[in-house]
Amino acid sequence: MRKYDDSYRHKGMRKKLTDLVRSKGITNEKVLAAIENIPRHYFLDSAFEEVAYEDRAFPIAEGQTISQPYTVAYQTQLLEVQPFQKVLEIGTGSAYQASVLAEMGAQVFTIERQKKLFELNKTFPYLRKYPNIKFFYGDGFEGLPTYGPFDKVLITAAAPFIPEKLIAQMKPGGMMVIPVDSGQTQIMKRITRNADGTLYEEAFDRFSFVPMLQGKND
Ligand code: SAH
Repeated sequence: MRKYDDSYRHKGMRKKLTDLVRSKGITNEKVLAAIENIPRHYFLDSAFEEVAYEDRAFPIAEGQTISQPYTVAYQTQLLEVQPFQKVLEIGTGSAYQASVLAEMGAQVFTIERQKKLFELNKTFPYLRKYPNIKFFYGDGFEGLPTYGPFDKVLITAAAPFIPEKLIAQMKPGGMMVIPVDSGQTQIMKRITRNADGTLYEEAFDRFSFVPMLQGKND
């Protein structure tokens, strides 16, 4: 069961969480505003209401997780999202990250391979606030060739490698943020596709994500 009331107490906890995320090094004010505005407790079972604003990942359905707010902010900041940009997200999960992108004005296309999670988001009333998110049930390794190319691609699961098909769906000048597998943790990478088609790769901090898996699960 989820509870959809947003009190001053929730808002207060959210302000503290935002300050914490800022203190950990996030400087993009639009990212911070999204964290401060979005009622994260709506995305979790009411059993987690008291801890929803701790900077931690939590379990959702199907053995998956809602990412830690700092991780969401970190990936979003690296992505340099601008209003109206087309952003492809792999791994909808709770739709919290998708909501952060939508709150920043992006056109979000998000794919989830777990049917149950995909179905859950269809009946999640808060998401009606974001007509700029389109939800897809499918295998993120394939991307969405008919909806691309995209300005930005965000992978929110541990990728075993950089998926070639997703690189092909990026616009020239586009960026991909992807945690790439290297055992227990992943290295956050940012790939920029130059105008001439060549790729520029940067490596950042280590994180821990659930695995990006091949195929769909119904
Ligand atoms: N962005 C999410 C994080 C969810 S965890 C959030 O904000 O809550 C990662 C998600 O990626 C899981 O829900 C998992 O089922 C999904 N996933 C893993 N491999 C995938 C793939 N190949 N295609 C689409 N989704 C995938």
